[in-house]
Amino acid sequence: MKYAIIPVTPFQQNCTILWSEATMTGAVVDPGGDIDRIVRAVERAGVTLEKILATHGHVDHVGGVAELARRLSLPVEGPHPEDRFLLDGMERQCLMFGFPVTQGFTPDRWLADGDTVTVAGETLAVLHCPGHTPGHVVFHHAPSKLAVVGDVLFQGSIGRTDFPRGDHAALLESIHTKLLPLGDDVAFIPGHGPMSTLGQERRHNPFLND
Ligand SMILES: [Zn+2]
Ligand SMILES: [Zn+2]
Repeated sequence: MKYAIIPVTPFQQNCTILWSEATMTGAVVDPGGDIDRIVRAVERAGVTLEKILATHGHVDHVGGVAELARRLSLPVEGPHPEDRFLLDGMERQCLMFGFPVTQGFTPDRWLADGDTVTVAGETLAVLHCPGHTPGHVVFHHAPSKLAVVGDVLFQGSIGRTDFPRGDHAALLESIHTKLLPLGDDVAFIPGHGPMSTLGQERRHNPFLND
């Protein structure tokens, strides 16, 4: 599975295009904003989008979902229903973070732990990883050894838990029981900043080693 990362919004959120070179179809994960830039990147890559995937309900990740879904007539899958309060409160989030006010949305499909999603005929596993938000999900494509983890884990850091319904203990539990068991050789795209591997973080991330 191929990928391209497009940092969007003032928060430099790693919107990600996932696609198959065999079919040149794919999905966009977390279109938080800057929709024109995302659409141009998709066109440049020559990819036809099938759907939008969402990791969690924070505005820098999903603030552009409603607009992109409407513009390209795409279905939306994710996050987990525990993040419904964030999607319903999209206007409040926009005002709180100084974003242009965008619409909330209801996904066509809520996701749960153990679900799978398909992108270009390939299967990605859905892992429910609460802590940063209660309804955060992670997408794992085992054949590519690639995961899109949103704001669960970063290179050298972990997600903030000082937002509404954040839970530090739950976040550590998610990382230790869901993410790290995927294997040291799994590369991951975090919600912000550079990519890393689970092995690198298991060994060197200060938040996982105290
Ligand atoms: Zn977040
Ligand atoms: Zn974020």
